[in-house]
Amino acid sequence: MNYVYGPIPSRRLGKSLGISPIQKKTCNLACVYCMLGKTDKMTNESVEQYPLEDILDEVKLVLDNRLEIDIISIVGEGEPTLYARLDELVSSIKTLTNIPVAVITNATRLTEASVYQALLKADFVLPSVDAYDETSFKKINRPEKSLNYQKIIDSLIKFSHEYQGELWVETMICKGYNDTDEAVDKLKSILRKIKYQRLYINSPIRPPALETVKALDHQRLDTIAKKLGGINIDVLADPKFYSDIKNDLQAILSIIKRHPMNQFEINAFLDSRNTSNKHLIYERLTSNGEIEVINYKGFNTYRFK
Ligand code: SF4
Repeated sequence: MNYVYGPIPSRRLGKSLGISPIQKKTCNLACVYCMLGKTDKMTNESVEQYPLEDILDEVKLVLDNRLEIDIISIVGEGEPTLYARLDELVSSIKTLTNIPVAVITNATRLTEASVYQALLKADFVLPSVDAYDETSFKKINRPEKSLNYQKIIDSLIKFSHEYQGELWVETMICKGYNDTDEAVDKLKSILRKIKYQRLYINSPIRPPALETVKALDHQRLDTIAKKLGGINIDVLADPKFYSDIKNDLQAILSIIKRHPMNQFEINAFLDSRNTSNKHLIYERLTSNGEIEVINYKGFNTYRFK
C-alpha cells in the first residue's frame, strides 16, 4: 500500500484508516511542534503528486477486506488540502462506503473556494487553530509567505457556520509560544467565533520539529483547557497500535512510516503479539539508517527521517 495505511488507533477518532494523498512533508506550514519533523516541500500551490485512481484502488482493496474501521481520515504526511483533487477524493470515497470521512487539516486553505467546497462534503473536519494573531502565526506555524492569518480565520469562521458535519478544532499549546494568560485570552476570543462541536487542547507529546519546543505539564494544560472550554487531550485514553502484518519488525516499520511510536507504544504493541525477541527488534530499528531515534521527555521515540 502506498497511499492508504492502518487502520491505526486515534485518540480522537477510534480505528482510523489513513489516506495520505500527498508526498511526505509537503506542507504550507512548518509548525514548530510538527511530529513529522521539518517541512521538506514548502508550498501553497495545489499538487497532484499521486493519481486519484490509484488512491481509490487501494481504498477499495482495504474495504474489501472488511477490517474494523471507525473512520476514514484524509490526513497525509503534510497538509492534505494541498491535494488538487481533494473534492473528488472525498466524494468518491463516500460512494464506496458509509464509513464517515474525516479531513484533518491546518485550515489554512479554507480561503480557497475548491478546498472550502471539498470540506463541506466531509463528515468530520478537524482544523487546527494555534495562533492568536499574525505574529504568533508566524512564530508557531511558520507559514508559506503568501498566507494571511486573518483571512484564514475569517474563512474558518464562515465555514463553521455553513458546515453541517462535525467540526472538531484542535489547539496545540507550546511552552513559550501561546501559553501565557494573555495569549489564551486572545485565542479564546477567536475560538468563540467558530461554531465547533468539540475543542481539543493538546501539547506536543511527540518529538517536535524544533528541539527547543516544550510541552506543558498536565496541570497547566488542564487550566488552559478549562479556560478555553475545551477537552485536555491528556485525559483521552492512549490508543493501542495494531497491524495485520505478521512480521513484527515489518509491522512496526509500516506504522512508524506514517506515525512515530515511542518505546512504550512499541513495547505494548510487541507484548500484544507475544513477541519474545523484543531486543532484536530494537536492534534492527536502531541500526536502520532510515529511522531516527529521538530522546524526548526522557524516553525514545522512533520515526522515519
Ligand atoms: S503539524 Fe501539520 S500543518 Fe504543521 S507543519 Fe506539520 S504537517 Fe504541516
